[in-house]
Amino acid sequence: MMSPVSRPIYLDNNATTPVDPSVLEAMLPYFTEMFGNAASRNHIYGWEAEQAVENAREQIAQGIGATAKEIIFTSGATESNNLALKGIAERYEDKGKHLITSVSEHKCVLDTCRYLEQKGYEVTYLPISKDGLINLDALEAAIRPDTVLVSIMAANNEIGVLQPISAIGKICTEHEVLFHTDAAQAFGKVPLHVDKMNIHLLSLSGHKFYGPKGIGALYVRRKNPRVQLVAQMHGGGHERGLRSGTLAVPSIVGMGKAAEICFTNMDQEIARTEWLRNYLWEQVQQRIPENSLNGSLEDRLANNLNLSFAFVEGESLLMGVHDTVALSSGSACTSASLEASHVLKALGISDEQARSSIRFGLGRFTTKEEIDRVLDKLEIVVSRLRAMSPQWQAHHQKAQQAVY
Ligand SMILES: *Cc1c(COP(=O)(O)O)cnc(C)c1O
Repeated sequence: MMSPVSRPIYLDNNATTPVDPSVLEAMLPYFTEMFGNAASRNHIYGWEAEQAVENAREQIAQGIGATAKEIIFTSGATESNNLALKGIAERYEDKGKHLITSVSEHKCVLDTCRYLEQKGYEVTYLPISKDGLINLDALEAAIRPDTVLVSIMAANNEIGVLQPISAIGKICTEHEVLFHTDAAQAFGKVPLHVDKMNIHLLSLSGHKFYGPKGIGALYVRRKNPRVQLVAQMHGGGHERGLRSGTLAVPSIVGMGKAAEICFTNMDQEIARTEWLRNYLWEQVQQRIPENSLNGSLEDRLANNLNLSFAFVEGESLLMGVHDTVALSSGSACTSASLEASHVLKALGISDEQARSSIRFGLGRFTTKEEIDRVLDKLEIVVSRLRAMSPQWQAHHQKAQQAVY
């Protein structure tokens, strides 16, 4: 076993983040002394658990301009997305059975759409440009009289690209179509405001912003307009009947605290990570030839960089650096398979470029010293892999002939 001091640098914060120590501290009493069921109405154990849950609801709501009553706790963004899409589709099927999403959504949105298609719904999948953005005119043109929901992610989990959420919300409102956004990557990392951005439903996940795993929430607008959903989990009627099941009080407390920390320090944290990320990108360009950036640099999460190194297999690169740095070649969900990611393919890049892509996810605890160590390692491993590649050598000779 590796000792803690020699553990590799963690640069996979788009897959998950560590629990912040002050989040853990806030959670601990709710495992032991204050272990009550938040639905118990007859004693202090229940009351204090309920109070803690309501406090967390407030902490999460405040950060996005919502009210506490509009927050429904779930097990994570996968469940929130399922509830939003299936719940809206079923509730409004008298109005119509058409939904709009994009090809670069998380698998849990795309798979839910596939499921709905099997149930007789119709789904339009908007393409993305080479920058990773959807086209607003295409969105508007796709809206039909029977469209009930538009679901577009706020930030992409692989390439970090930020979609124009405000403009999408405006279009949806003008056409009286509900707008859901999967904000699992954006929540706590970019400013979001459900009123200013005309968002009707928003999914988030605790473990993407230094809270615990297995907890998330769905924001559901209660007025202008009042959004209704068909519950997907039946039972004791918790969460306004929208999501039955005893609340995970310690996890909810942790997620609330994690949200509060993010919203307190958001501006400084964006500036800090963006500086580090840009430093990483500039240094890569100076030190490692023939690389390319996947997705827009401007419309991107401050903590994300997705790069391809020509003639270097992503998987080989990850293996080569894994004792120094923990990175991934795309989303955690697809990294088990060797198939190129659906997001990178949708950018229109070659299969070869997609297979040579690496995702860097910087985090709250990432330092410049760590970035420097990662750069040193990358430079060595990329040139070693290229030295072993016949294609690289052939390409290099051709390039030299062109010069002379
Ligand atoms: C992580 C993630 C999810 C899934 O969230 P879980 O809480 O792990 O279920 C969904 N969408 C996006 C964009 C994500 O990054």
